[in-house]
This record gives sequence, structure tokens and C-alpha cells, in this order.
Amino acid sequence: MNKPDSASLSRLPQIEKLLQTEELQLWFPRLSRPLVTRLASETIDAIREEVRGGGAVPPIQTIIGAVADRCRQTAGRRIHHLINATGVMLHTNLGRAPISKTAWRSAEAVNTGFSNLEFDLQTGKRGKRKGIIPELLALLVGAEDALMVNNNAAAVFLILSALAKGREVIVSRGEQVQIGGGFRIPEILAQTGANMVEVGTTNITRLEDYTRAFSPDTAMVLTVHASNFRIRGFTARPGIRELAESLPEDVLLVVDQGSGTTTERIPGEHSVAHYLSSGADLVSFSGDKVLGGPQAGFIVGRRDLIRKLAEHPLNRVFRPGKTIYSLMEEALVARLNRDAEPPVEAVLNLSVEELRSRGQALLSDLPPGSVRLVESTVATGGGSAPDEQFPSLSVELLAERRPETLLEILRSGDPPVIGTIVEGRVRLNLATLLPGELESVAAAIRRLSGETT
Ligand SMILES: *Cc1c(COP(=O)(O)O)cnc(C)c1O
Repeated sequence: MNKPDSASLSRLPQIEKLLQTEELQLWFPRLSRPLVTRLASETIDAIREEVRGGGAVPPIQTIIGAVADRCRQTAGRRIHHLINATGVMLHTNLGRAPISKTAWRSAEAVNTGFSNLEFDLQTGKRGKRKGIIPELLALLVGAEDALMVNNNAAAVFLILSALAKGREVIVSRGEQVQIGGGFRIPEILAQTGANMVEVGTTNITRLEDYTRAFSPDTAMVLTVHASNFRIRGFTARPGIRELAESLPEDVLLVVDQGSGTTTERIPGEHSVAHYLSSGADLVSFSGDKVLGGPQAGFIVGRRDLIRKLAEHPLNRVFRPGKTIYSLMEEALVARLNRDAEPPVEAVLNLSVEELRSRGQALLSDLPPGSVRLVESTVATGGGSAPDEQFPSLSVELLAERRPETLLEILRSGDPPVIGTIVEGRVRLNLATLLPGELESVAAAIRRLSGETT
């Protein structure tokens, strides 16, 4: 191995000199000058190590190219828009519900200026951070009162901490679930200081399992919606009404409903209103799933309990900011006026004709033989109807290349397009495309087949 001389190390370019090149300056607006500087210096450090190990100093263009690669990879990790062609409408990895453009525009002034977030315009004094969220939710789900926090995990955590700490919470063994990354019911319970009392079995939990478990220490019964799986076959669990009617006076019935479904239109899903009218004291759910709002969690139900939750110190920890308040009020008003179709409704309302016309539009925009239309299915996602698939159409890519490679190229586009592999071929599901995205999808497919027009 050659010992590097200080002369070759000194031929490594100065960072400043690299930063003056157009190739790297291009990345300043996306990454900031200091971050590009750091990536450049990391690249030089790596090359210096190689030169110390006997390697040659690469040409300056190669070094610039290496820094630019790092910049591109880093910029790729920035949050940015992509096209969801997965066939799962509410995908936690893909940001769940898209917010309507109308809501987004209406919320602009609040967010780019000052607002009455916690200021009472009538008295000129400090006000409550809640806007008209409780009234809107009361109308939407038939609740006495409501509280909004950062997400549904926080909602469940707040309920348990404020109302069951140091006491017993009865949970069916069939509902000790994990939802997405890191939300595990037994772990959440343990963190809040509530004592979990497990009843029933994975598939069967009967009313008597609950009633036998009641003790003077029981604070609540918690039922959790199985958001991402179904147990089929020999199964049983009591209905919410049955459970509510058998509860001792001071034991609360809390339902983690999850998806935020407000209609009875999704097969296998009960609405938040259904649980409340069946006797649940509190129901919690996410704001960015079926409801179609920004990320938030809701707790709805009895006014006395909601007040207790609102006064708990953790509520301060979990409070959302003005961006969420402004967007959520817009989303809820739109839901009540039925003048915006939230994403899940859009999927349920999709007609075969609409899907076909999307497919035809795409096909007519592409070289013959590059894709074909195939029947497929779409899922609502977001913890709703985990077992249900609705009819859809997909385009299947016919290019004779590894499907993983095709998916990778699609992901590297601008905007990236996220598809799936079914039976060895890449599919792009037409049902989860949003208005105006067909053209980008066509462009992405053309890029694959080597046509750039
Ligand atoms: C989605 C979901 C959660 C977690 O909600 P986040 O809003 O993601 O915190 C909790 N419980 C159920 C039943 C869910 O479906």
C-alpha cells in the first residue's frame, strides 16, 4: 500500500471552492447553505480517508458529483408531495387524509398572521383554546362536548391518565392490539399508571367475563377497535349497549373508535355517534383518518368528563396549534355542509365508469403496449374496514424489467409515484389518485419506457 504524501492530500479541493459551483448552489434553496456545506465536508472527509489508505485524489468533477449525490439523497428525505397509487386511500406512511384545497386556502390568513387562538374578542381578554370545535363535533357525532388533542394516541393516553390512574381498566384479550408503529394498548395503559385487567380470550369475550371482573377498584372498561385486522370464525364479544347496561354506576365505558367514521356507510364500521348513543361515556378517534382533517385526536362524550380532561395538566402537553385549529374547523364545517367529499367517501362513491374513464385517459396518453388495465381493489385504510376491499381498476406495467426496479424508478420521479407489485407486475391503482394527478402518472410511466415527451 502506498503511503500518501501530504502533497496528494493537499490536492483535495477547498470546501469553499466546491460551494461556488453551480451544481452545488442549486441545492441551497432546498437544503440551506450550511447543510450543503456539511455534506460537502463529509464527502471530503470520506475521500481523505481513502487517500490516506493509498487511493488517488479523484478529479474535481467526481468530487462535486459525489457531493451532489449526497444532496439529492438528503433532499429526498425532505417531506414532499407524492402520488399514492397503492390502492390504500388512508395510508399512515403516506400522510393519511389529504386536506382539501379549499380548507387549506381558507386557513392561510390565520396561519400567516396573528389570530384569536386564545383570545376572547368580546372581552378583550385571554380566551379558551377551542374555537367552535366542540359545537361542530357535537352536531357531527351527537356528543355533549368534545376535546381536540394532537392525535388519537394522546386522546387515549389523556383519558387513562386523567380518569384511571392507579385504578383498574378492564380490556378484552381480543383487543390488546398494536396499531401502527408503537401504539400498543397494554404499553399505553402501563405508562399511564392504570392497571390493566385482562378478560376473555383472543377470540371470545363474553359479557360475564367483564361483569365478573368488576371490583371497587374498577375505573373503566376500555374497548378498542381492531383497526388493522379482523378475527374471523368462532368469535364473540358483547355489544356496546349490552356492556353499557351492565356497568356499575361509577364505571366508565370508553371506546377507542380509531378511524373517526361518522356514517354507517363503511361496511363493518360503526360510527362515533353509534357508540355514543349505545351508552359509551367517551369515544376517541383520529382526525386525519376517515374524517379527512389534519392530524388530531378527538375525545367526545359526557360534558363532566370532558371538563376533567380539559383541566388535566397533560391536556396542555397534548394541545394542538393554530394550524390544526384552523384546518380542522374548515374540515368539520365542510363535513356538516356536505360540500366536500372526504377521501374515504370519494373512494366509496367512485363509479366503475369514472375509473374506466381515468384508465382510458391514461391509456390514450401512453405508447401502446406499455400498460394494460386490470381489475383490482381499493381499501379505505386508516383503521377503517380492515377486511373490506372495494372494486377498482389499476394500470399494470408491461415493461419487461424487474418490478422492484420499476417501482424504484417511479419513486425517484418528481413527484414520486408509489405503486405496488401484484403477481410479479407493477400496478398503479386508479382509485387513490387525486384530481389532476393522471397527467403526472402518465409522465412517470412514459419516463419508464424511455420516452420523455
Ligand atoms: C389509528 C388508531 C389509533 C392511533 O391514532 P393516532 O391518531 O395515529 O394517534 C389508536 N387507536 C385506534 C383504534 C386507531 O385506529
